[in-house]
Amino acid sequence: MSRRILENHSENEASPFYCRTPQSAYIHIPFCTKKCGYCDFVSFSGVEHHIPIYFAALMNEIKVTFAVQRNLDKGQGVEDSNNKLSDLNYDLPLLQTVYFGGGTPGMVPFRYLCDILHLLRREVGVAENAEITLEVNPGNLATDQLSDLYQAGFNRLSIGLQSAQPQLLKLLGRIHSPEDFLHLTEYAKMVGWQNISGDMMLGLPGQSLADVQHTVEFLDRCQVTHVSLYSLMVEPDTPFWNRYRYGEGLPAPELEREMYHTAVSSLEKRGFELYEISNMAKPGYQSQHNLTYWAGRPYYGFGCGAASFVNGERRSNPHNLKKYIAHYSQGEQSQLLFDVDEIIDLNEAMIEYFMLGFRRLSGVSITEFEKQFGQHPPVFMLTALANLQREGLIYFDGDSAHLSCKGLDYANQVFMAFLP
Ligand code: SF4
Repeated sequence: MSRRILENHSENEASPFYCRTPQSAYIHIPFCTKKCGYCDFVSFSGVEHHIPIYFAALMNEIKVTFAVQRNLDKGQGVEDSNNKLSDLNYDLPLLQTVYFGGGTPGMVPFRYLCDILHLLRREVGVAENAEITLEVNPGNLATDQLSDLYQAGFNRLSIGLQSAQPQLLKLLGRIHSPEDFLHLTEYAKMVGWQNISGDMMLGLPGQSLADVQHTVEFLDRCQVTHVSLYSLMVEPDTPFWNRYRYGEGLPAPELEREMYHTAVSSLEKRGFELYEISNMAKPGYQSQHNLTYWAGRPYYGFGCGAASFVNGERRSNPHNLKKYIAHYSQGEQSQLLFDVDEIIDLNEAMIEYFMLGFRRLSGVSITEFEKQFGQHPPVFMLTALANLQREGLIYFDGDSAHLSCKGLDYANQVFMAFLP
């Protein structure tokens, strides 16, 4: 039997890049200690008794997905090193990034998370230098698990701080204090973690520019290497919808934008670089997993409510926890269960190239476009670029186009310009 290590996906070079076999995996862990007032993510509190059976179902979904993908790749005539299809040991490309998100993966007992990582290693392989992220929240991760998780191969922490103001944390319904965040990062660094991201929120009720400045200083003091900036979205079916849906009590849009620019310039002074509209990193600490999304590359999504982009389809798993568990508890014979939200063909992929690409501060490039699609951008896209440049929303730097400072505030207008 031959075992191939497909590091660079070279055998799928003939396929368009958006149809290739994924090299990234997102794992959704939909459990939280308490539901935050603004949250509309697929996450549930008070159902921790489902954790063991959820993980059993998750393992089945992962096994079935890889089995289906192997068959599909075989059917497309991808060949092994002896130019023959290998029946017994056909390998898929190694995973380069794995992201455990939620929900709150950090509240789940350590052994369940490790079991999933072991399964991925066994079933498909995880590259030696892969980025393996775990989302955690201060207040419900036993710090002694941090050492075990790091030893098991997790190497990036994404921690929800949201704000360094205790009264804002309370208003959001968070269960932690700023000090919990500080202690968590201190302990994490002590046991080896170097790649630590902190989330902060903008546009919160009663939040001031001074609060934003203070939160940036706090994150810097905690020595995080990456910061994600989120503007509060008031979503239907959340407690915040009832209180804030008409905007009363929320900062005016101009103030929210000022908060964003204050956070960005303050973080820049501290050595962070804005590499995506909402994400800043110290050199060498950009999120490789999220860069996959913004490059329009495929990724697996496992778990209740998880989204995936596989074989040119953007899919979503059932959002209903019981339905998900019941379906995948049927074992490895289960059929995959998902909705196809969108089929990405050549035209859609070209549109996404600009819509997703402009999120990155490195921008988009005509040469890169031609390399990826084998053709020049269609006329309507070139017209859109020229219009956006005239409006001062983007600027050209040689062959590349980037969002301008004004474009950062009107990014949606830029994205929409590429819809036919
Ligand atoms: S911790 Fe995150 S996923 Fe859980 S309820 Fe709060 S915002 Fe939602």
